[in-house]
Amino acid sequence: MSDEKSCLFLDGSVPSRNLFLNNLKAAGEALCRGYEGVESAYNRRSPQELKALLEGDELLPAQGWGWEKTLARAEELLIQNSLKVCSHDYMAHLHGPPLMDSVAAELLLAGTNQSMDSWDQAPMATEMELRMARQLCGLIGFPDGADGIFTAGGSQSNLMGLLIGRDWFLEKRFGLDVRREGLSAEVLKVRIYTSEVSHFSMEKSAHLLGLGYRAVRAVPVDPRQKMSMPALEEMIREDLEAGFIPMMVAATAGTTDFGSIDPLKEIRRICDDHGLWMHIDAAYGGGLILSEKFRGRIAGLETTDSLTVDFHKMFLQPISCGGFFLKNGGEFSRLTLHADYLNREEDEEEGYENLVGKSLATTRRFDALKIWMSFKSLGAGEWARMMDRTVDNARRIYERLLDDPRFSVITKPEISSVVFRYIGGTGEEDVRDEINASVRRELIHRFGTIIGQTKAGGRTHLKMTLLNPLVEPEKIFDLLERIAEMGEERRGEL
Ligand SMILES: *Cc1c(COP(=O)(O)O)cnc(C)c1O
Repeated sequence: MSDEKSCLFLDGSVPSRNLFLNNLKAAGEALCRGYEGVESAYNRRSPQELKALLEGDELLPAQGWGWEKTLARAEELLIQNSLKVCSHDYMAHLHGPPLMDSVAAELLLAGTNQSMDSWDQAPMATEMELRMARQLCGLIGFPDGADGIFTAGGSQSNLMGLLIGRDWFLEKRFGLDVRREGLSAEVLKVRIYTSEVSHFSMEKSAHLLGLGYRAVRAVPVDPRQKMSMPALEEMIREDLEAGFIPMMVAATAGTTDFGSIDPLKEIRRICDDHGLWMHIDAAYGGGLILSEKFRGRIAGLETTDSLTVDFHKMFLQPISCGGFFLKNGGEFSRLTLHADYLNREEDEEEGYENLVGKSLATTRRFDALKIWMSFKSLGAGEWARMMDRTVDNARRIYERLLDDPRFSVITKPEISSVVFRYIGGTGEEDVRDEINASVRRELIHRFGTIIGQTKAGGRTHLKMTLLNPLVEPEKIFDLLERIAEMGEERRGEL
């Protein structure tokens, strides 16, 4: 190996430090170049054009290229053809621009490469995450004894909520220890209630938990896209009569499409009446805990048994960064399994906490550092302003749409997502579906603008999901004008 190549790791040596700083600077510069002069979210290339760029790309060259050439190639392929998440023309998904401080925090967490499964792989990181989990429980409003863990995201957190809720319920109801004995035929009658517009990870989790999609009952929503309480009570009653076993309600605080928030306090009451576990999926709406103006909209969050919060959505963290919380932290023990090579029982007696006992993953990133650094760096006031501004912007866009006869709009946003439909001119609803879908596609390839699309009431709608607090509503009003013009053009062609 040449001298340069023998520097594989950042260690204490002068050559390794110089090389590392040099490479890092070059990578940072490449990234900055990628954002230079960026207006639109995407450079408009089609899937075929991207495939052509990769033509002949060899996975593992016989001779290494060295960092400079490799970086230049990554810049040419990836950076230039990436979706620019910071662009104000990007609002398709719950996928935001990462805070600059948190991107830098990624460097610290990758560079230190602590693994969160056991204390001896992450001494201070373990202590920091432990403390933060409890502090976040305080922010949520949970009582003492609550606990949490960082996860890979909302889907994983929802799976954990449904898993722990299932095991809690089956033990209480049947004295069954699912961990050891698995599921028996009689317990397959359990039912999970979630709204018809909740996230698909509910069904996926039911599948993974051996219950199947059919265990998930889609409760109808009201016109504001919130779970209907009369419908929930009716479904529970019907299921009981038919011999099914209501097990839990999985509420949503911020549905993926509409940002609607289920009636959390009423759901708590219904869960108590029937002895059900309550889970809240606040992957999206969890961000409101930092808002001064809108925090009240998620009142009741603190009453749930288990809770999902995603930090890579409203909290603007680089992917991945998720959280899972339990009002009674002791319930985490349902996940704990000891291994002689990792998390010996005596460790804890001696004061060494191994976080793997609360986690589905074993090896795990110290994603908590990104929250730690960006909370401290920006402070509560700035965080509240960011959340408030995003929610206010969505309301202004909604009001604009409401005033414009060329559009219909589904519901007043409770968070930051606006679902609407171009309905200019007369025409069949099917034709309107086609127009809306083709306008969205055309926006990508003609203007590099990316907005969302979904179905509401069986009809194709467009969607703007705002996460970036710096977006100016006036710019979005211009975009709405463009959408209306494109819709009109398309209508002429059909
Ligand atoms: C995004 C989202 C999820 C899934 O979270 P991931 O981090 O993508 O796994 C779950 N529930 C809701 C309501 C979401 O919006």
